[in-house]
Amino acid sequence: MDNGDSLQSVPDSLHRNQFIQCAACESALQSPGRESVSFLLLDQLTIPLVGCDNHLEEFCSLCGLATEDRAQLLNHRPAGGVNCPSCRHAPHKPQQPVIPVGNGGLAVLACSTHQSDIFSRFHTGLQVRQHLTSSLDAASSDP
Ligand SMILES: [Zn+2]
Ligand SMILES: [Zn+2]
Repeated sequence: MDNGDSLQSVPDSLHRNQFIQCAACESALQSPGRESVSFLLLDQLTIPLVGCDNHLEEFCSLCGLATEDRAQLLNHRPAGGVNCPSCRHAPHKPQQPVIPVGNGGLAVLACSTHQSDIFSRFHTGLQVRQHLTSSLDAASSDP
């Protein structure tokens, strides 16, 4: 066992996006301009997101598993705009938290409240999908 020294010396730039192996996500995150922002509509929430189309779709469908309603993805600002004033003013900067989705990653440009809202739905969605997959596996491997 070492003293954990290696944890302290990781530069921020290396630490961030380390898990992103999707070039499309990475380039979207590096230039989070207005036109690269998509919006996830879910349970009255409007969450601005940055990432590639594939991983946005995946994120959207996972979040949809965690709710009764349908999650919807828009690639333009919704007509009513973002209804949470704090989200609207959340900085559109690359240092926003990045959620690993598959081999890519999405930046969530929301206020901290709605960030944790959407994180928890995403995690629930992952669990639901895992459960569905494992029960399918169990069924198909049953002799
Ligand atoms: Zn991607
Ligand atoms: Zn908000």
